[in-house]
Amino acid sequence: MLRGSVERTDVLVAGAGPVGLYLAGLLGKSGLAVTVLDEHDSIGRPNHCSGLVSRNLDLFVRPMREWIEHEVSGAIISSGSASISLRKTRPAAYVIDREMFDLSLSEGLDVRPGTRVEGVSAGEEGNSSKEGASRLRSEKGIAVKTNKGVFRAQMLIGCDGANSVVARHFGSRPKKLLMGVIGITREEDYSENVEIMIDKTRARDGFFWKIPRGRTTEYGLFSSKADFLELEKFFGIKPAERRTGLIPLGPGKTYFNRAVLVGDAAGMSKPWSGGGLIYGLTAARIAANVVCEAFNQNDFSEGFLSRYESGWKKEIGRQIQVGMFGRGIFESMDNGDVKIVLKLLRICNPLMNMLDMDFLVR
Ligand SMILES: Cc1cc2nc3c(=O)[nH]c(=O)nc-3n(C[C@H](O)[C@H](O)[C@H](O)COP(=O)(O)OP(=O)(O)OC[C@H]3O[C@@H](n4cnc5c(N)ncnc54)[C@H](O)[C@@H]3O)c2cc1C
Repeated sequence: MLRGSVERTDVLVAGAGPVGLYLAGLLGKSGLAVTVLDEHDSIGRPNHCSGLVSRNLDLFVRPMREWIEHEVSGAIISSGSASISLRKTRPAAYVIDREMFDLSLSEGLDVRPGTRVEGVSAGEEGNSSKEGASRLRSEKGIAVKTNKGVFRAQMLIGCDGANSVVARHFGSRPKKLLMGVIGITREEDYSENVEIMIDKTRARDGFFWKIPRGRTTEYGLFSSKADFLELEKFFGIKPAERRTGLIPLGPGKTYFNRAVLVGDAAGMSKPWSGGGLIYGLTAARIAANVVCEAFNQNDFSEGFLSRYESGWKKEIGRQIQVGMFGRGIFESMDNGDVKIVLKLLRICNPLMNMLDMDFLVR
């Protein structure tokens, strides 16, 4: 049953995470009417993210003191006694407060908190609805069923994260879904390095990390079987705050009649670290251009929107493909293999220092 009134807009964005908000902002600046729907009552909450993001972020937004907790310039990667230290000559990454960051992106936008997307129903030209809402199908456009009634638009953008309802509707799923768990302690830590610890006996397909957050310290674990018990045992900590979330790796199809998927909803994370902010924002910018063009040409067909997928593949497709291949090799290694690799990498340390956190292959 479809309840409540039907609201109409040009573009509906499902999900007020950083990717949906950034994209909504770009579309709004182009003169389109955009409504962002989010299931949670407050933007940025619950926060499931470390917010470690390279300075490539400056390419998308102006850095703001309110959401930068700390900056780091290096990383120490270790496995038992073997380690490698990567260093930049200046701060290379921000440690951001994701709640404050998301809030700043939401300024001036039409965001509807507490509005959960429950189903999608496409217009005349295809994508038949599982909900069977014939009243909605009889109009052109795309409709979204929520707990607060029906929203209708010319286009729908799925930015609703790793468990995306929009992606499920279109049958698109990431190749892998991993877990991240975070424990935050009240110890001050202003050090310059992020630490990454690999122990294949405890996290076969991931790693532990420690991030200095300035006034606090973050400990984390990323793997297919991450849990708080393992995290707290490994570091011997009793966190004051715990966070958890899913990390999708390996995008499926991202364009459909009147809809595209962007960010975690599309599985656009870095396969080696699980970081998804820079790739999500990169794809959002490409999606914004294609969606504006679709309105100019009045063409919302899957054929037209396929240029969005070609666009993001040009920018980040190779990184993800090579990353997934590298991940496959990493998953098959044991601790002994990892130590050998770290020792080999030490030999080419100057080259490693030149690597970009987001774009490992050029
Ligand atoms: C433990 C952990 C640590 C991480 N650390 C980093 C890091 O340091 N650096 C980095 O770059 N990335 C990191 N990531 C990944 C990063 O958090 C994501 O890539 C990023 O949040 C993706 O943004 P998004 O907007 O696509 O999705 P999300 O941030 O997941 O936002 C999706 C939004 O959609 C909403 N939503 C979901 N379902 C519905 C629905 N049915 N209806 C309406 N709204 C809905 C949610 O409430 C949410 O607001 C981490 C992830 C995890 C789990």
